Parts: sequence; structure tokens; C-alpha cells
Amino acid sequence: MLAQIESALLGTRARLLTGRDSRWVPEPADFSCPSCGRGVGEGEVSPEDGRCSSCRPEKLAWDRFIRLGDFAGQLREAVHATKYESWRAQGMQLGRVLGYRVLDELRARGIPPEAAILVPVPMPTLRRLGRGIDHSMVLARGVRATSGVRLVPMLRRSGGKPQVEVVPSLRAANLRNKVRLRQVSIGSPQAVVLVDDVKTTGATLRACSGAIRGVLGESKAEIWASVVAVTAERNRRARREISAEA
Ligand SMILES: [Zn+2]
Repeated sequence: MLAQIESALLGTRARLLTGRDSRWVPEPADFSCPSCGRGVGEGEVSPEDGRCSSCRPEKLAWDRFIRLGDFAGQLREAVHATKYESWRAQGMQLGRVLGYRVLDELRARGIPPEAAILVPVPMPTLRRLGRGIDHSMVLARGVRATSGVRLVPMLRRSGGKPQVEVVPSLRAANLRNKVRLRQVSIGSPQAVVLVDDVKTTGATLRACSGAIRGVLGESKAEIWASVVAVTAERNRRARREISAEA
């Protein structure tokens, strides 16, 4: 109800995606590579190293990747409504759905929720004020609500242009030295779970992972990247099923 009012006031045309809608559910976990987050077809991820052929030669900054789907269709509308129309209820709902996925992964790896922390990908203060929402913080609160994992905003960011305004090849440089650590106690987590809306080039997640790795030092803690959506690389299996339905 509140969400509907909020939606009407904001004039968004997107419906609230809850993950229980009959026409939208997050894609199954095995539709994407658990290492890099790219969409994969059946059997493309090796059970030995958990990698697909695309990321096997890459050095990844994180240990595990979780996503709800491709950045397309209703999911893209919902992310845009959260980010550009400050639709908090939508951000919370997407976060809650992502939280269930995070919880599944923690359970699968025998890590209790209290032994993990959530870290929202930070946004520069000025931009947050201009936009009226810190979307990754809103998502992270949703993730916390369903996963029970503690939220520790241990990163902050200064300056730099919004990544979407920078050509992909320059995004890493745009971020260099812009992600900093805040003086907070993180304890000794077994998993640090980054939360963001969309992965495009991965430059932001790499910069954040690098900063966190520096704090973890010799610890065996894993860094996970969790996002609502990953920008268009093909999800062959989904595409095949859609064409089979048609
Ligand atoms: Zn991969």
C-alpha cells in the first residue's frame, strides 16, 4: 500500500518487484557464474574451480559473485526507479530478495550470518545529496532484513564522476584513490559481502574489494560481490528458454 502511494507520487511506471510476482522471479542461481557473475549456459561452470571459460584466465578481485539477473526488462526498470526516482520501497524489496540469495550462499558454505558483514558500495556525499537516495545503502538494508547479516558501511568515496558518465576504459582511473576506509571495527568476519545495484565493467567492485582486502590482511575471509543485476552479456540459457516458449 505504502509502496503504491510512493510509486504514484513519484510517477514511476515500474511495478514494485517483490520476487513473488508471478511474472518476475529472480533467475535461478546456476544461470550465472558464481565467480564472475556472467550469464552462463548449462555445464559452462567447471565444478572443479567454480569458474566459467570467460573468467578462468582472469584474476578476480572477489571470491564469489551473486546476482538476481541480467540488467534488462523489469529488473532494469526497478533499479532505475530505486536510483533515479528515489523509490526506497523498491530498493528495499530488491535488497530483500538479494538477501535470501546471500543467505543461501552462506548456508551452502557453512558460514553463519553473524560471521559475515555487509558493505554497501559507497557513493560520494555530494552525489548522494543531489540524488536524494543512497541506493546501495537502501539495498544493503534490504539484504540485512532477510539474511540477518550485520551492516558495516566501512567504505567511503570522494569525488570522481559517476561511473555511468565515464567511458568503460577510463572507469578504473576515475576510481583510483577515491575509495577509502572509514574508521570502523569489522571484527574478524569469514565473509565480507559487498552490495551494489549493477555491475557493468566491475571497476567499482574491484576498487572496493581492493580496499577491503587491504584491511583483511592475512585473514582467510572471503570477499563476495552481490548485485541486483549485471549488464548485458548474454544469458544463453534464459534466452533459449524464452525462445522455446515463443
Ligand atoms: Zn565466470
